[in-house]
Parts: sequence; C-alpha cells; structure tokens
Amino acid sequence: MTGGLGGFLDLIPESVLLRRTDGLILEWNAAAETLYGLPRARAIGRFAADLFGTGAGPEEALAALESTGAWEGALPRPGADGRDRIVHVRWRRGEGPEAAIVETGRDITAERAAAEALRKSEHRYRNLFQAMAASFWELDFFPVGEMLYRLRKSGAVADWPGHFAANPALVREMMRATRVIDVNEQTVATFGRAGGGKEELLRSVEPFWPEASSGVFAASVAAAVGGAPNFSAETRLRTIDGREFPALFTACFPADTMNKGTLLVGVIDLSELVAAQQALARMQDEMAHAARVSMLGELAASIAHEINQPLGAIAAHAAAGQRWLDRDPPELDEVRALMASVGADACRAADIVGRVRAMASGHAPEPGPVPVNAVIADAVTFLNHEIRRSGTRVETRLCRSDPVVLADRVQLQQVVVNLAMNALQAMADTPAPLLSLETGTRGGRVLLGIADTGPGVAAEVLPRLFDSFFTTRATGMGMGLAIARGIAGRFGGEIRAGNRPGGGALFEVDLPVCPGGILAHTKV
Ligand code: ADP
Repeated sequence: MTGGLGGFLDLIPESVLLRRTDGLILEWNAAAETLYGLPRARAIGRFAADLFGTGAGPEEALAALESTGAWEGALPRPGADGRDRIVHVRWRRGEGPEAAIVETGRDITAERAAAEALRKSEHRYRNLFQAMAASFWELDFFPVGEMLYRLRKSGAVADWPGHFAANPALVREMMRATRVIDVNEQTVATFGRAGGGKEELLRSVEPFWPEASSGVFAASVAAAVGGAPNFSAETRLRTIDGREFPALFTACFPADTMNKGTLLVGVIDLSELVAAQQALARMQDEMAHAARVSMLGELAASIAHEINQPLGAIAAHAAAGQRWLDRDPPELDEVRALMASVGADACRAADIVGRVRAMASGHAPEPGPVPVNAVIADAVTFLNHEIRRSGTRVETRLCRSDPVVLADRVQLQQVVVNLAMNALQAMADTPAPLLSLETGTRGGRVLLGIADTGPGVAAEVLPRLFDSFFTTRATGMGMGLAIARGIAGRFGGEIRAGNRPGGGALFEVDLPVCPGGILAHTKV
C-alpha cells in the first residue's frame, strides 16, 4: 500500500505515474502495478525509458510537452504478462523548474482489437456489398418509421396490411419518404442508365416501384412492423429510365439496423430466369401439342368410326324421310321426327369434329376455370370407340360438388385421355377390364383418379415412370406421362402413380381448386 498521495492515487482506475523531466519515476499507483506487472517499490527510482524499453517517447510527443506542457496518444508498452499492450497515455507537466510530469494511462489493447475487427468486418461487408452479383440497397427508413410511429400512437391502425390496402396513397408516400443511402455496382448495372453512375440512384425509392407492385412494398413494411425477421417476394421493379422487369425483392430487418432507421434490401433480376421459364413452357406446349397430334394419329380409325356413326344415321334418316315424303299424302309428322334426329346426329358429328380440332390445335394454353367432371365426360366420349372395342367396362364416380380447377381445358383433357389410354393399353390381356374414373376434393385440392384392373406398375419401374422416353411397351414412346406431369405442374398440380390394393394401377391428378370454384361438398 502507498501512503499519502500514493494512497489517493490507488483509488484511480487508470495507471498514474509521476516522473521527473529526465524520466526518473517518483510515483507509481496500484493500477500501474497491475498494468505493467511491476510493484511500486521496484518502479520508483527507475527511469521510464529503461522500464518501458521505448526511449523517452515519440519526438512529436516530447515537442508538444516542451511547447504546450501536455500530450496524449497511444504508446506500445510491455504489459504485465510480457506481451505488448497499447496504452493511451496523457502527459501533463507541472509548473516550475523542477516540475514533474504526471502520466495517466489506460490499456486500450482490447478496444483497438475490437475496432480493428469491426473495421475489417465493415471492410468485408463493404466488399461483399459491392462485389455481390445481386443488387443491394442501403435505405434510410427513418422517416417512414416516424410516420408509422405516429399512426400507431394515434391508435387508428390495428391491421397494417388492411390499412395499407385501403390507403394506396400512403404506400406511395412511404416510398417517397424512403431514401437510398448507398447502392452497390450491381444495382447501378441493373437500375441505372447505361454509362450512368450511382449518384442518380441516391434518391427516394418511389420511381423504382411501379404502381402495380405497391402491394409488395406495403407487405414488406407490414412484415417489418409486425416484427418479422425478413421479407421476400417476387414482384416487378423499374429501372431509372422506366423499364420494368421481374425481380426477387428481399429485405431483412435486424433489430440494430432497424433501430438506426436503416435497412438493407436485395434485388435479384429475374428477367433471364423468367425468359428461360417461358421458353421452357413454350417448349412443353409444343411437345404437348405434338403428342396430341400423334395421339390423334393413333386414334384416327376410332375417330373416323365415331364420326361415321352419326353420318350413317343421318344418311339412313334422310332415306327414310324421303320415303315418308313420297307417300300420298306425305307423312309429315314422321318426316319432322326424322329431321329432329338428323339434327341431333349432325350435332354429335360436329361435336366429335370440334373435339378433334381442339386436340389438334396448337394454340397457346389459355388457363381458365375448368370443371373436372366435364373433362372426365369429354375423355370418355373421346375414347368411346377404344373402350367399346376392348370390351372395357367404365365406372365413373364424379364429385357432386362439381369442382373447378384453373387450367387449360384441352391440355387437362389431354392428361386424362393419356392416363385412360395407358389404362386401356395396360389391360389388353386382362379378362374383365374395368376402367374407374373418379373426381373428388381434399383440403382445397381437386383430385382426378384414373384406375384400372391391369397388372399394375412394377415397384422397380415406379421411380422412372414419369421420365421422358421411359416406356415398357414395344410401340411406346414414353412421353405420355412426362407430358401429363408437365401439364399438371403448369397449373400448380402434380400426378402420383401407384397400385391399388386389389390390383391394377391408380394414377391421381392433384390440382389446386380454382379460386372461387364451386365446392359445396367435399365428399366424392
Ligand atoms: P408410353 O405409353 O408410350 O409407354 P407413357 O409415358 O404414357 O409412355 O408411359 C410410360 C410407361 O408407364 C409405360 O410404358 C408403362 O410401363 C407404364 N404405365 C403407364 N400407365 C400404366 C398403367 N396404367 N398400368 C401399368 N403401367 C403403366
């Protein structure tokens, strides 16, 4: 323990040492003992330069001390453990010729390391921010935070999404109030003018959001207000010169940046992805069309037969009508009845031709509400001849609520005809072929079941069933199921394949119910 002044100095958490201008140490407090690992008794009477092994001090420090009597700065000093420490020291020279210098010191090694780590991480972050292939935006969200705070305090808003939906002008105002602080190079490339710099992007975010995308902006604000950790949605954004493009918008709301009122937002340009998806969809449509045409080729004899029937009936009715007219007096009531039959048969023939034409058409798919019971009925009519020729019994169980899906009617019909044709082909050697067609609903989904009493699908074949060009039939192409699955996928659905417990295969088409589609019952 030190006495007198020393006792008082020991209360100071910083290291304190008193030395003469020549460096001889006169005082040394407890904090100095801890910091440098040297007891007071061994420090007093030694020269600071020897003790620290660093000379009297940096030149500019000595000069400052000489001219102003004070200096402060960071000095490397050996610490108690022998390792180098950084000590922030303050020197003050007392008055008079024999004036001593008071030095207070604080170990800032850990602070320096933390600051350096922070600097490095900020540097890394800056580098990342700049180098990422995605567009990044740093936004000043503070004014919007204030707007929302005022609204919340007024107690007028309980449901943010609802409030934003009812007040589109407020959403635009929030966009105008959100300012861009910084953007990376990718943002300049994606949103800027050719040859332009980033300065022109440092403004309000409003011009980058087309009117139709306001809902997504509002949803991201609602997510932030609702305490979500992040938000992401596909939307359309606009470049500085007005070109709109599809984009993936993401925002994260970490508490520390939110409290500062800044926000980091990322945008990925989906133009190429969307173009590739569209090209793929076009290719799938073309393949589906080619498959329909080839199916019509396979069914040509049956179709001709189907059309021939009403045509034959028309010819017979016409001949009979002629005979009734030749009677004296002509039997006009009979002729009238025959004419009605001729009309009905002509309609039947026209109906078949219409179906064939729709199947043959290569028009782009037009998604619309399609009642699935009608699709099953269409498919049965289409395959009527094949069904009769193969002696297959057909059992249909249609959902009474008449569920509706959002799809292209011709393409969905193609799926069912494909699956039913496969079933008929699989039952070629089955003694009592039975084709079961079923529609039903389950939890917002619509199901179409196509089952047969054939040999079923072998377990080893099951995983490859939907692969393109996979076939076990000698004359098969192996595209039917691949195309059917592609079509179902287009409309948010899927197709599952399996076997029924009693034998035979079951294919299940599972599609989302059309929004607003009629679903009175859920029972099949
Ligand atoms: P393809 O009919 O030209 O062979 P698909 O893609 O329609 O092409 O069918 C692929 C394969 O799936 C068929 O070759 C057959 O092995 C199997 N498959 C399809 N439907 C059935 C079914 N109902 N029962 C048994 N196997 C089936």
